[in-house]
Amino acid sequence: MNNNDNNIKALKKGHCYEYIVSACLCGENTRYDGKSSLSPEIKKLIEEGRAIMCCPELLGGLEVPRLPCEIKDGKVVNAESEDKTRQFVDGAVKTLEIAQRYNIKKAILKEKSPSCGSNYIYDGTFSKTLIPGKGVTAEMLRLNGIEVISNEKFSNQM
Ligand code: SF4
Repeated sequence: MNNNDNNIKALKKGHCYEYIVSACLCGENTRYDGKSSLSPEIKKLIEEGRAIMCCPELLGGLEVPRLPCEIKDGKVVNAESEDKTRQFVDGAVKTLEIAQRYNIKKAILKEKSPSCGSNYIYDGTFSKTLIPGKGVTAEMLRLNGIEVISNEKFSNQM
């Protein structure tokens, strides 16, 4: 998956999708460290044609691998204190556009990510400290009426 390839090509016209999901949960190596966070039950949603996946950070123009980012004082910065807010906002907008284009009302996103986290994120000190909060994409989707479910909650319900 690159930043222009978000499996939209696999979509069939007129098909309805229930969920938009984080690509790393489907086994795509989109994380900052070049790894995935595979969740078999979420990957199954793709295989069943019930979900489409995207990676907001790649949609926003970031690459794999990349330095980890955290939200601090309303901005997204990487571990070298470079401001990556624009890329995160761009990725969130593109993710929202995909969800709206396919009339998707639910998202399953990777908890703790500065893009996808829906209950917890890291505190901006790069010390592995979690705080209550939402990632940029999770908040963008929520504000636009899309129910955001964490991967942890979804998996616990299975
Ligand atoms: S932005 Fe979301 S989909 Fe992309 S690697 Fe991070 S958690 Fe996964």
